[in-house]
Amino acid sequence: MRDRVPPRAPVPSKSVRGLVDELLAGDKRAAAKLISLIEDDEPEAAEASALIFPHTGRAHYVGFTGSPGVGKSSLINRLVREFRARGKKVGVVAVDPTSPYSGGAVLGDRIRMADTGIDPGVFIRSMATRGHAGGLALATFDAVRVLDAMGMDLVFVETVGAGQSEVEIASRAHTTVVVEMPLTGDAVQTMKAGILEIGDVYVVNKVDLGSWENLVANLKFQIEEREGWRPPIVTTSVLEDRGIQELADALTDHADYLGKSGRLRARNLERARHEILENAQRILAQRVSQLTPLGATFDRLAEAVATQRLDPHTAAKRLFQGAVRARHAATVRRKARSSGTRR
Ligand code: GDP
Repeated sequence: MRDRVPPRAPVPSKSVRGLVDELLAGDKRAAAKLISLIEDDEPEAAEASALIFPHTGRAHYVGFTGSPGVGKSSLINRLVREFRARGKKVGVVAVDPTSPYSGGAVLGDRIRMADTGIDPGVFIRSMATRGHAGGLALATFDAVRVLDAMGMDLVFVETVGAGQSEVEIASRAHTTVVVEMPLTGDAVQTMKAGILEIGDVYVVNKVDLGSWENLVANLKFQIEEREGWRPPIVTTSVLEDRGIQELADALTDHADYLGKSGRLRARNLERARHEILENAQRILAQRVSQLTPLGATFDRLAEAVATQRLDPHTAAKRLFQGAVRARHAATVRRKARSSGTRR
Protein backbone atom coordinates (compact mmCIF):
# COMPACT_ATOMS: atom_id res chain seq x y z
CA MET A 1 0.00 0.00 0.00
CA ARG A 2 1.11 3.48 -0.77
CA ASP A 3 1.52 6.05 1.97
CA ARG A 4 -0.67 9.07 1.59
CA VAL A 5 1.38 12.08 2.55
CA PRO A 6 -0.74 14.96 3.78
CA PRO A 7 0.76 18.29 2.72
CA ARG A 8 2.68 19.82 5.62
CA ALA A 9 1.91 23.39 6.71
CA PRO A 10 4.62 25.52 5.14
CA VAL A 11 6.68 28.00 7.15
CA PRO A 12 5.50 31.52 6.16
CA SER A 13 7.37 32.78 3.07
CA LYS A 14 8.36 35.86 4.94
CA SER A 15 10.60 33.91 7.27
CA VAL A 16 12.23 32.01 4.38
CA ARG A 17 12.86 35.33 2.67
CA GLY A 18 14.28 36.72 5.91
CA LEU A 19 16.66 33.77 6.20
CA VAL A 20 17.84 34.24 2.62
CA ASP A 21 18.47 37.96 3.28
CA GLU A 22 20.55 37.04 6.32
CA LEU A 23 22.43 34.46 4.26
CA LEU A 24 23.25 37.04 1.62
CA ALA A 25 24.68 39.22 4.38
CA GLY A 26 27.02 36.32 5.25
CA ASP A 27 25.18 34.98 8.31
CA LYS A 28 26.38 31.45 9.15
CA ARG A 29 23.35 30.66 11.29
CA ALA A 30 21.06 31.42 8.37
CA ALA A 31 23.22 29.21 6.13
CA ALA A 32 22.95 26.36 8.64
CA LYS A 33 19.17 26.74 8.89
CA LEU A 34 18.71 26.82 5.13
CA ILE A 35 20.83 23.71 4.68
CA SER A 36 18.76 21.98 7.37
CA LEU A 37 15.58 22.80 5.43
CA ILE A 38 17.15 21.19 2.35
CA GLU A 39 18.51 18.25 4.30
CA ASP A 40 15.17 17.51 5.95
CA ASP A 41 13.34 18.03 2.67
CA GLU A 42 10.97 20.57 4.24
CA PRO A 43 8.24 22.03 2.03
CA GLU A 44 9.84 25.49 2.06
CA ALA A 45 13.19 24.17 0.81
CA ALA A 46 12.15 24.62 -2.82
CA GLU A 47 11.14 28.21 -2.19
CA ALA A 48 14.42 28.89 -0.39
CA SER A 49 16.40 27.35 -3.26
CA ALA A 50 14.52 29.48 -5.79
CA LEU A 51 15.27 32.66 -3.81
CA ILE A 52 18.93 31.71 -3.42
CA PHE A 53 19.53 30.71 -7.02
CA PRO A 54 19.82 34.21 -8.56
CA HIS A 55 22.68 34.93 -6.16
CA THR A 56 24.78 31.94 -7.22
CA GLY A 57 27.10 31.09 -10.07
CA ARG A 58 30.24 32.73 -8.75
CA ALA A 59 31.87 29.98 -6.69
CA HIS A 60 34.15 27.21 -7.94
CA TYR A 61 32.68 23.82 -6.96
CA VAL A 62 35.23 21.09 -6.27
CA GLY A 63 34.09 17.51 -5.64
CA PHE A 64 36.29 14.93 -3.87
CA THR A 65 35.91 11.18 -4.17
CA GLY A 66 38.13 8.26 -3.19
CA SER A 67 37.91 5.19 -0.97
CA PRO A 68 37.31 5.74 2.74
CA GLY A 69 40.56 6.34 4.61
CA VAL A 70 42.66 7.71 1.73
CA GLY A 71 42.72 11.10 3.44
CA LYS A 72 40.04 13.21 1.70
CA SER A 73 38.89 14.83 4.88
CA SER A 74 42.45 15.57 6.03
CA LEU A 75 43.32 17.02 2.61
CA ILE A 76 40.23 19.22 2.56
CA ASN A 77 40.97 20.45 6.05
CA ARG A 78 44.47 21.42 4.93
CA LEU A 79 43.28 22.91 1.63
CA VAL A 80 40.78 25.11 3.46
CA ARG A 81 43.69 26.64 5.38
CA GLU A 82 45.75 26.98 2.19
CA PHE A 83 43.01 28.85 0.35
CA ARG A 84 42.29 31.01 3.40
CA ALA A 85 45.96 32.00 3.34
CA ARG A 86 45.43 32.94 -0.31
CA GLY A 87 42.58 35.23 0.72
CA LYS A 88 39.76 32.96 -0.49
CA LYS A 89 36.57 32.13 1.32
CA VAL A 90 35.85 28.41 1.43
CA GLY A 91 32.75 26.35 2.10
CA VAL A 92 32.61 22.59 2.60
CA VAL A 93 29.59 20.32 2.20
CA ALA A 94 30.32 16.79 3.35
CA VAL A 95 27.82 14.19 2.17
CA ASP A 96 27.40 10.62 3.21
CA PRO A 97 25.08 8.71 0.88
CA THR A 98 25.60 5.49 2.77
CA SER A 99 24.63 6.58 6.24
CA PRO A 100 21.00 7.12 7.20
CA TYR A 101 21.94 9.60 9.92
CA SER A 102 24.26 12.52 10.16
CA GLY A 103 26.99 11.58 12.53
CA GLY A 104 29.42 8.73 12.46
CA ALA A 105 32.53 9.24 10.40
CA VAL A 106 31.47 12.45 8.76
CA LEU A 107 30.66 14.12 12.04
CA GLY A 108 33.99 12.94 13.43
CA ASP A 109 35.70 14.66 10.52
CA ARG A 110 33.85 17.84 11.29
CA ILE A 111 35.18 17.80 14.83
CA ARG A 112 38.68 17.68 13.40
CA MET A 113 37.82 20.75 11.38
CA ALA A 114 36.41 22.61 14.37
CA ASP A 115 39.40 24.95 14.50
CA THR A 116 38.02 26.82 11.49
CA GLY A 117 34.62 27.40 13.14
CA ILE A 118 35.12 31.01 14.18
CA ASP A 119 36.59 32.19 10.88
CA PRO A 120 33.87 34.06 8.89
CA GLY A 121 35.55 32.97 5.65
CA VAL A 122 34.96 29.26 6.29
CA PHE A 123 31.75 27.32 6.57
CA ILE A 124 31.67 23.55 6.97
CA ARG A 125 28.56 21.47 7.04
CA SER A 126 27.81 17.76 6.78
CA MET A 127 24.64 16.35 5.29
CA ALA A 128 22.88 13.08 5.90
CA THR A 129 20.61 11.23 3.53
CA ARG A 130 17.32 11.11 5.35
CA GLY A 131 14.38 12.19 3.31
CA HIS A 132 15.86 12.89 -0.10
CA ALA A 133 13.13 11.78 -2.43
CA GLY A 134 14.80 13.78 -5.19
CA GLY A 135 18.18 12.17 -4.82
CA LEU A 136 21.15 13.15 -2.75
CA ALA A 137 22.99 14.84 -5.61
CA LEU A 138 20.11 17.26 -6.00
CA ALA A 139 20.07 18.13 -2.28
CA THR A 140 23.86 18.37 -2.21
CA PHE A 141 24.00 21.01 -4.91
CA ASP A 142 21.13 22.95 -3.35
CA ALA A 143 23.31 23.09 -0.22
CA VAL A 144 26.38 23.98 -2.29
CA ARG A 145 24.45 26.91 -3.72
CA VAL A 146 23.62 28.15 -0.22
CA LEU A 147 27.38 28.52 0.32
CA ASP A 148 27.86 30.02 -3.13
CA ALA A 149 25.20 32.68 -2.39
CA MET A 150 26.86 33.32 0.96
CA GLY A 151 29.91 34.56 -0.93
CA MET A 152 32.27 31.59 -0.75
CA ASP A 153 34.88 31.58 -3.52
CA LEU A 154 35.27 27.81 -3.42
CA VAL A 155 32.88 25.13 -2.27
CA PHE A 156 34.34 21.68 -1.60
CA VAL A 157 31.98 18.75 -1.84
CA GLU A 158 33.36 15.92 0.25
CA THR A 159 31.99 12.42 -0.21
CA VAL A 160 32.92 9.60 2.12
CA GLY A 161 33.80 7.02 -0.48
CA ALA A 162 34.04 6.03 -4.14
CA GLY A 163 30.74 4.21 -4.61
CA GLN A 164 28.40 4.96 -7.48
CA SER A 165 26.48 7.78 -5.84
CA GLU A 166 29.60 9.37 -4.38
CA VAL A 167 31.29 9.37 -7.77
CA GLU A 168 28.17 10.84 -9.31
CA ILE A 169 28.00 13.64 -6.77
CA ALA A 170 31.69 14.48 -7.07
CA SER A 171 31.56 14.47 -10.86
CA ARG A 172 28.82 17.10 -10.92
CA ALA A 173 31.21 19.68 -9.50
CA HIS A 174 33.23 21.95 -11.80
CA THR A 175 36.41 20.17 -10.79
CA THR A 176 36.47 16.54 -9.69
CA VAL A 177 39.34 15.39 -7.52
CA VAL A 178 40.06 11.67 -7.21
CA VAL A 179 42.14 10.75 -4.17
CA GLU A 180 44.18 7.54 -4.01
CA MET A 181 46.84 6.27 -1.66
CA PRO A 182 49.63 3.74 -2.15
CA LEU A 183 49.02 0.28 -0.83
CA THR A 184 51.73 -1.22 1.25
CA GLY A 185 53.04 -4.76 0.99
CA ASP A 186 52.28 -7.02 -1.95
CA ALA A 187 48.73 -5.84 -2.59
CA VAL A 188 48.01 -5.21 -6.25
CA GLN A 189 46.49 -1.81 -6.72
CA THR A 190 43.50 -1.75 -9.00
CA MET A 191 41.48 1.28 -9.96
CA LYS A 192 37.76 1.30 -9.40
CA ALA A 193 35.84 1.28 -12.67
CA GLY A 194 35.08 4.74 -13.99
CA ILE A 195 37.57 6.48 -11.72
CA LEU A 196 40.00 7.06 -14.59
CA GLU A 197 37.38 8.90 -16.62
CA ILE A 198 36.03 11.30 -14.03
CA GLY A 199 39.03 12.97 -12.40
CA ASP A 200 40.20 16.41 -13.41
CA VAL A 201 42.90 16.23 -10.76
CA TYR A 202 44.33 13.03 -9.24
CA VAL A 203 45.92 13.00 -5.82
CA VAL A 204 48.20 10.31 -4.49
CA ASN A 205 48.12 11.01 -0.77
CA LYS A 206 50.15 9.51 2.09
CA VAL A 207 53.37 9.47 0.09
CA ASP A 208 55.13 9.45 3.49
CA LEU A 209 54.20 5.76 3.62
CA GLY A 210 56.50 5.09 0.65
CA SER A 211 55.91 2.78 -2.38
CA TRP A 212 53.93 5.43 -4.20
CA GLU A 213 55.97 5.49 -7.41
CA ASN A 214 54.18 2.56 -9.03
CA LEU A 215 50.77 4.06 -8.40
CA VAL A 216 51.82 7.38 -9.93
CA ALA A 217 53.36 5.64 -12.96
CA ASN A 218 50.24 3.54 -13.35
CA LEU A 219 47.99 6.60 -13.24
CA LYS A 220 50.22 8.52 -15.65
CA PHE A 221 50.04 5.66 -18.09
CA GLN A 222 46.26 5.33 -17.92
CA ILE A 223 45.01 8.90 -17.67
CA GLU A 224 44.46 10.58 -20.97
CA GLU A 225 44.06 14.15 -22.04
CA ARG A 226 40.41 15.15 -22.34
CA GLU A 227 39.22 18.20 -24.23
CA GLY A 228 42.53 19.99 -23.94
CA TRP A 229 43.11 19.19 -20.26
CA ARG A 230 45.58 16.61 -19.04
CA PRO A 231 44.60 15.74 -15.47
CA PRO A 232 47.64 16.32 -13.26
CA ILE A 233 48.70 13.76 -10.67
CA VAL A 234 49.66 15.51 -7.46
CA THR A 235 51.54 13.68 -4.73
CA THR A 236 50.73 14.80 -1.20
CA SER A 237 51.31 14.00 2.42
CA VAL A 238 49.04 15.70 4.88
CA LEU A 239 51.12 14.21 7.66
CA GLU A 240 54.33 15.85 6.41
CA ASP A 241 52.55 18.84 4.87
CA ARG A 242 53.81 18.12 1.36
CA GLY A 243 52.16 18.88 -1.97
CA ILE A 244 49.31 21.00 -0.60
CA GLN A 245 50.31 24.14 -2.49
CA GLU A 246 50.70 22.14 -5.71
CA LEU A 247 47.21 20.70 -5.19
CA ALA A 248 45.74 24.15 -4.57
CA ASP A 249 47.51 25.38 -7.74
CA ALA A 250 46.10 22.45 -9.73
CA LEU A 251 42.55 23.32 -8.62
CA THR A 252 43.06 26.96 -9.60
CA ASP A 253 44.58 25.95 -12.96
CA HIS A 254 41.58 23.77 -13.70
CA ALA A 255 39.19 26.62 -12.87
CA ASP A 256 41.15 28.84 -15.30
CA TYR A 257 41.05 26.17 -17.97
CA LEU A 258 37.27 25.75 -17.55
CA GLY A 259 36.71 29.46 -17.98
CA LYS A 260 39.01 29.89 -20.98
CA SER A 261 38.00 26.74 -22.86
CA GLY A 262 34.22 27.16 -22.57
CA ARG A 263 34.01 23.92 -20.59
CA LEU A 264 32.58 25.78 -17.61
CA ARG A 265 29.42 26.45 -19.57
CA ALA A 266 29.31 22.81 -20.70
CA ARG A 267 29.69 21.54 -17.12
CA ASN A 268 26.96 23.85 -15.87
CA LEU A 269 24.69 22.69 -18.70
CA GLU A 270 25.32 19.06 -17.80
CA ARG A 271 24.43 19.68 -14.16
CA ALA A 272 21.36 21.70 -15.16
CA ARG A 273 20.08 18.82 -17.32
CA HIS A 274 20.44 16.36 -14.45
CA GLU A 275 18.82 18.70 -11.98
CA ILE A 276 15.81 19.52 -14.16
CA LEU A 277 15.10 15.85 -14.84
CA GLU A 278 15.52 14.90 -11.19
CA ASN A 279 13.25 17.72 -10.08
CA ALA A 280 10.64 16.72 -12.64
CA GLN A 281 10.72 13.16 -11.34
CA ARG A 282 10.44 14.44 -7.82
CA ILE A 283 7.43 16.65 -8.61
CA LEU A 284 5.69 13.71 -10.26
CA ALA A 285 6.42 11.49 -7.26
CA GLN A 286 5.03 14.13 -4.90
CA ARG A 287 1.84 14.56 -6.92
CA VAL A 288 1.09 10.85 -6.99
CA SER A 289 1.69 10.51 -3.26
CA GLN A 290 -0.87 13.16 -2.39
CA LEU A 291 -4.65 12.90 -2.50
CA THR A 292 -5.06 14.17 -6.04
CA PRO A 293 -6.80 12.77 -9.13
CA LEU A 294 -3.32 11.88 -10.35
CA GLY A 295 -2.82 9.82 -7.19
CA ALA A 296 -6.00 7.92 -8.05
CA THR A 297 -4.75 7.33 -11.60
CA PHE A 298 -1.48 6.06 -10.14
CA ASP A 299 -3.37 3.60 -7.92
CA ARG A 300 -5.35 2.30 -10.90
CA LEU A 301 -2.21 1.91 -12.99
CA ALA A 302 -0.42 0.09 -10.16
CA GLU A 303 -3.36 -2.29 -9.85
CA ALA A 304 -3.27 -2.94 -13.59
CA VAL A 305 0.47 -3.65 -13.58
CA ALA A 306 0.28 -5.84 -10.47
CA THR A 307 -2.45 -7.96 -12.09
CA GLN A 308 -0.52 -8.32 -15.34
CA ARG A 309 -3.00 -6.28 -17.39
CA LEU A 310 -0.56 -3.53 -18.25
CA ASP A 311 3.21 -3.35 -18.54
CA PRO A 312 5.07 -0.80 -16.36
CA HIS A 313 6.48 1.07 -19.36
CA THR A 314 3.01 1.81 -20.79
CA ALA A 315 1.75 2.61 -17.29
CA ALA A 316 4.50 5.21 -16.89
CA LYS A 317 3.53 6.82 -20.19
CA ARG A 318 -0.11 6.99 -19.11
CA LEU A 319 0.84 8.45 -15.74
CA PHE A 320 2.84 11.10 -17.52
CA GLN A 321 -0.04 11.89 -19.88
CA GLY A 322 -2.32 12.12 -16.85
CA ALA A 323 0.05 14.63 -15.24
CA VAL A 324 0.07 16.79 -18.36
CA ARG A 325 -3.76 16.67 -18.60
CA ALA A 326 -4.12 17.53 -14.89
CA ARG A 327 -1.86 20.52 -15.39
CA HIS A 328 -3.83 21.64 -18.45
CA ALA A 329 -7.15 21.32 -16.61
CA ALA A 330 -5.80 23.39 -13.70
CA THR A 331 -4.70 26.15 -16.10
CA VAL A 332 -8.12 26.21 -17.79
CA ARG A 333 -9.83 26.45 -14.39
CA ARG A 334 -7.55 29.27 -13.29
CA LYS A 335 -8.18 31.24 -16.50
CA ALA A 336 -11.93 30.76 -16.20
CA ARG A 337 -11.81 31.99 -12.60
CA SER A 338 -9.77 35.07 -13.39
CA SER A 339 -11.96 36.07 -16.38
CA GLY A 340 -14.99 35.53 -14.08
CA THR A 341 -13.61 37.97 -11.51
CA ARG A 342 -12.90 40.60 -14.18
CA ARG A 343 -16.47 40.67 -15.35
P1 GDP B 1 38.93 9.95 4.35
O1 GDP B 1 38.12 8.81 4.87
O2 GDP B 1 39.33 9.75 2.95
O3 GDP B 1 38.30 11.29 4.58
O4 GDP B 1 40.31 9.93 5.16
P2 GDP B 1 40.73 10.74 6.46
O5 GDP B 1 41.08 12.15 6.11
O6 GDP B 1 39.70 10.53 7.51
O7 GDP B 1 42.08 10.01 6.84
C1 GDP B 1 42.12 8.66 7.23
C2 GDP B 1 43.35 8.42 8.12
O8 GDP B 1 44.53 8.63 7.37
C3 GDP B 1 43.42 9.36 9.30
O9 GDP B 1 43.87 8.65 10.42
C4 GDP B 1 44.43 10.40 8.88
O10 GDP B 1 45.10 10.99 9.97
C5 GDP B 1 45.36 9.59 8.03
N1 GDP B 1 46.06 10.39 7.00
C6 GDP B 1 45.53 11.36 6.21
N2 GDP B 1 46.47 11.86 5.39
C7 GDP B 1 47.62 11.20 5.68
C8 GDP B 1 48.96 11.26 5.13
O11 GDP B 1 49.28 12.03 4.24
N3 GDP B 1 49.84 10.36 5.63
C9 GDP B 1 49.52 9.46 6.60
N4 GDP B 1 50.47 8.63 7.02
N5 GDP B 1 48.29 9.39 7.14
C10 GDP B 1 47.36 10.26 6.67
